[in-house]
Formats: sequence, C-alpha cells, structure tokens
Amino acid sequence: MTISLNTEILQIGNPILREIATEVTEIDNPKIQTLIDELILTTKEAHGVGIAAPQIGKSYRIIIVASHPNFRYPDAPFMSPIAMINPRIVSHSEEIVIATEGCLSVKEKRGCVPRYRDIVVEYITRDGYCQRQEYSNFVARIIQHELDHLNGILFVDYLQDKLTIIDS
Ligand code: ZN
Repeated sequence: MTISLNTEILQIGNPILREIATEVTEIDNPKIQTLIDELILTTKEAHGVGIAAPQIGKSYRIIIVASHPNFRYPDAPFMSPIAMINPRIVSHSEEIVIATEGCLSVKEKRGCVPRYRDIVVEYITRDGYCQRQEYSNFVARIIQHELDHLNGILFVDYLQDKLTIIDS
C-alpha cells in the first residue's frame, strides 16, 4: 500500500461505515503501519481532530486522535496525533455533556450529541505497548466519536428525535 495524498473519505451511505471493524493482531505489519501514517496524513489534510480507519475504507480498529484549537473549538487542547489500536473505554464518568459535533463522513451536518465527560481508555500504541489513559471534555468526545466508527455508529444516529441536526 502506498501513501496517497487526498485519500478519499467515505461518506454516509457507504456500507463500510456500518461494519464492525476488525481487531488488529499484527501491529508491526507494514500494512498496518502504513495505514496509520495514511490516517494521520488524512486527518491533517482534512483539518480534522480525529479519524477512524473505516472512514478511509479500511475496516480495522484503529483511530487517530488529533485535537487542536480550531474555529469551532477555540479552547481545544493541542496534541500530536495519537494512533489508538483496538481502543476500548474501560470506565467513564456519570456526567454527560451535550455539545455539537461534526464528522468528516457526514459533510455539512452538525448536531448535539451526549457524551461522557471523562473516560478511561485502553489501547495499544503503534509500537505495540498497552496504554491506559484518562481523557476529559473535548478529547474524550473525540475518542467516543471515533470509537463509535469502529462499531458502525455515526453521530447522526443519536439525533433521532430529541436532538436536532443543524446545517453547518
Ligand atoms: Zn466521524
């Protein structure tokens, strides 16, 4: 697999976005490492704060978390992109925060989505180490959003009745 600029980001309606993504077993496989590079690059090119592998058509349990301040979230913390492999939430706060979200796979729509304020996430790094880390607020929201992608869930699925989809 070669790294291509302008990787296509799948849009809602594509069935790959609705699959349950596969656990990664061979982290040091060059195909997986190249996929991680491509995901980081695609996030950067799209000015996104995160992405999940299924969004570029690769149904593996890999997400990128790349919070940075932007015009929608001026107070977002800056972080170097982190690749989380086989991530899972092992505990979370009782508190839930409702805030607007968008998605690179649902262009021109945003909506209010409830998320846990704080989460503890366990994942494997691209170097093969197991990590356990607590995240809060905006970064916790990114992780919950991206993790949903690994289970075929899009943020619009939360917007059925009590919540509203708004044009961006
Ligand atoms: Zn998304």
